Amino acid sequence: VVRTRFAPSPTGFIHLGNIRSALFPWAFARASQGVFILRIEDTDEERSSQAAVDVILESMAWLGLDVDEGPFYQTRRMDRYREVIAQMLERGLAYRCYMSQAELEALRERQIAAKEKPRYDGTWRPEPGKVLPPVPAGVAPVIRFRNPIGGSVAWDDKVKGRIEIANDELDDLVIARPAAEPGGIGTPTYNFCVVVDDLDMGITHVIRGDDHVNNTPRQINILRALGAEPPVYAHLPTVLNEQGEKMSKRHGAKAVTQYRDEGFLADAVVNYLARLGWSHGDDEIFSREQLLAWFDLDHLGKSAGQFDEAKLRWVNAQHIKQAGDAALAPLVRAQLERLGRPVAADAGWLAPAIALFKDRCSTTVELADWLGMFAGPVQPGAEDLATHVTAAVRPAVAGLAGRLADVAWDKAGIAAAIKETLAAHGLKMPQLAHAVRVLVCGRAQTPSVDAVLALFPRETVLERLRAA
Ligand code: GLU
Repeated sequence: VVRTRFAPSPTGFIHLGNIRSALFPWAFARASQGVFILRIEDTDEERSSQAAVDVILESMAWLGLDVDEGPFYQTRRMDRYREVIAQMLERGLAYRCYMSQAELEALRERQIAAKEKPRYDGTWRPEPGKVLPPVPAGVAPVIRFRNPIGGSVAWDDKVKGRIEIANDELDDLVIARPAAEPGGIGTPTYNFCVVVDDLDMGITHVIRGDDHVNNTPRQINILRALGAEPPVYAHLPTVLNEQGEKMSKRHGAKAVTQYRDEGFLADAVVNYLARLGWSHGDDEIFSREQLLAWFDLDHLGKSAGQFDEAKLRWVNAQHIKQAGDAALAPLVRAQLERLGRPVAADAGWLAPAIALFKDRCSTTVELADWLGMFAGPVQPGAEDLATHVTAAVRPAVAGLAGRLADVAWDKAGIAAAIKETLAAHGLKMPQLAHAVRVLVCGRAQTPSVDAVLALFPRETVLERLRAA
């Protein structure tokens, strides 16, 4: 069974580039009838917070990235990590290193002066026949993993292809920080916790950002030492912003939930993000169901995706066009509420109005902006009034109001009343239609005026026309 995970560090902000690292493992788990796990990597307690976890959960829930297991919290698994470290010490897979900070610093300086790569020199690494230095007093030891010497560690990355790193490039990783008491085990380090988690959680496919690719050889070596075979790795290229920089809050990236607030559909954002780093032929617009039918790790892109908000808006517009009016209704209702225009639960006009206006909108905020005319009073602009509601047209407006008082209240009845009014007053359609739009809708451009009027209660239309 495929088991994937999203392993965010909850440090307060999650943008579209971050959430793409959730989308791909989720999509792969769903496409393979697998299991998707959420793991909160909160070991950096100073920077982590529950509020930040909530933002992650909210963003995932909005996008429909449903979790099968978790959230698990690394801070709640410390005993487990220490248990594994204790076993590793016992089995000689790890050892205590008493090199002090000052000694490490001195070693580093010597190596840099000799133009060598700074790395731990194995002073405290036990070897058969080697005599270790006497344990110094007053140094709290770290625990290091006994990395293999010689040979290499390699994997076939689903995105980057084969990667091979010589073991001599990797020194003995610190897996626990200094312990408070002698013989104790201090705080396990990040790279170690990840390995124990991936192992305990039975992760088969690690799909994550390529900023972690340097951790992978070390993680594989530890996994192998623990007797496990490494999972499949897919390291996703970074998402760049429109300026070509790495996407970040500092560089103006918006929070995921802001797109919800700005009227983007979850399915459209999922579609857009999926295309940013994965492809299915030339398909640009696809549903969630299609994504899950098609998603695989063989068509992940190798180059960094560049975020393009205009493209996202276009994708959103396509999804709005294709979405059912009833499905859009609660989203538009919520946006209308934000605009201070609450809509009654039984408002019959909402779905037909969405049907009439959605083709011209790229977000539900735009839709709500149009539909505001049905949910409260309108204020025609002075310029529109002056241009379109002229003295020449006013008598026709009054005539139309009179006729509309008795016609059958539907598109055909309204169209007939308009036609009669035009004939009676010798006007052309645009002259009357513009005036009616300005008065009833508060703007001069709308879809076909008879269709729009039919969505209002008759009384509202008559009131707005008579106000002229
Ligand atoms: N916590 C890491 C991050 O937020 C992800 C680590 C992983 O996926 O292995 O970048």
